[in-house]
Amino acid sequence: MRTIDRTHDAAATSWLASANTVGTDFPIQNLPFSVFRRAVSREALRGGVAIGGEVLDLAALGRTQCLDGLALQAARACAAPVLNDFFALGPAAWRTLRGALFDLLHEGAVARSPSNVEAVRDCLVPQSDVEHALPVRIGDYTDFYTSIHHARTISRLLSPNGEVPRNFQWVPTAYHGRVSSIGVAGQQFRRPYGQALRDGSSTPEYGPCRQLDYELELGIYVGAGNALGERIALSRAEDHVFGISLLNDWSARDIQAWEMAPLGPFHAKNFATTVSPWIVTMDALAPYRQPWSRPAADPQPLPYLESESHRAEGALDIRLEVSIETRRMRDARVPPEPMSRTTFHHHYWSIAQMVTHHTAGGCNLQPGDLLGSGTISGPEPAEAGALMELALAGRKPVQLGNGERRSFLEDGDAIFFRGWCEREGFRRIGFGVNHGMVLPALSEAEA
Ligand code: MN
Repeated sequence: MRTIDRTHDAAATSWLASANTVGTDFPIQNLPFSVFRRAVSREALRGGVAIGGEVLDLAALGRTQCLDGLALQAARACAAPVLNDFFALGPAAWRTLRGALFDLLHEGAVARSPSNVEAVRDCLVPQSDVEHALPVRIGDYTDFYTSIHHARTISRLLSPNGEVPRNFQWVPTAYHGRVSSIGVAGQQFRRPYGQALRDGSSTPEYGPCRQLDYELELGIYVGAGNALGERIALSRAEDHVFGISLLNDWSARDIQAWEMAPLGPFHAKNFATTVSPWIVTMDALAPYRQPWSRPAADPQPLPYLESESHRAEGALDIRLEVSIETRRMRDARVPPEPMSRTTFHHHYWSIAQMVTHHTAGGCNLQPGDLLGSGTISGPEPAEAGALMELALAGRKPVQLGNGERRSFLEDGDAIFFRGWCEREGFRRIGFGVNHGMVLPALSEAEA
């Protein structure tokens, strides 16, 4: 587990004014990582860290005299177009670079080392000028199904017997997803085709999805991996996690209902998955940990998924919000409209339990592997992390401010996720925005 240190001091400010503004996602206490370059340029992609309204170019910083030792080694690993090698360096390197960046960006650096401040200033690029790419070469992508509130509603709506699967309370369940269709925020994708069994019909038909949905999830990036055949103990699980982003697991519900049994989602999920550009590190998230618990009447975890320290601080309070911007709203310049809010604290299984369970049979995780947390829904209906849950599969369409209604997504709809952490005595930090847009299906002639 990560500890709270000087980099979490709520009183710390930066010499960069935009990092100190109230409500910024990226104060000096956050320092999330991404891969970027100037938009519409031929520049090489490289690692960067968000600070206020700027990106600190780590490739450029690695060429200055501002860093040495492990911090310099870590920054140079971030000069690559993907961060896999940096992730492989492990938690000591991540923490050392975070500490060094914090010191360089801190207000106090102006008096302590003015030449460093000038050098760092030359490594800043405005966030409004950059485009992002996937931060890592993702080897494998596993999507979990670990919110009991989501599972209860979805089972009622989708499963033949309406019940949450019997193993749900014992196993952090998951399926292996598709890597090639994962895109970074701004991803636009065609409404998928697939087979669906329509109400009242005895044979399936093939055509464009009619029940397109989003799933509000966290994207969990594996840092250092484990050898094939070696398990990761629960007490060490988070040493293998670099950080967290926002993830939209776009889902075709009509296709899913027909194809799910017996091997899980296929066409329903493999057409697009969108991740936010910024990865908030587990180090930055240290202040927002909470005790992990399970209702006393529920089965308690088997011993390999259970520990005292996990009970003490295994959960994370990450607040989340989903907004929609329909084509009509966009044309009328109406801002995206919030549809639901929840927190990851409600999740049935923790990140550490997902990592440990993933390796429990000897499966090797590798730097840059991506885990989807599973849809994050809270206990209240308004805390649902998918439109199908919010609108109860069309029985209670979501009413938007401009008079439009939504049971499922329509062509031209864009979905925005925001995430943030706040706790008294600490600075609020944010995840930035994850957004993606649905384009019309190809016509039959094109398909
Ligand atoms: Mn999912």
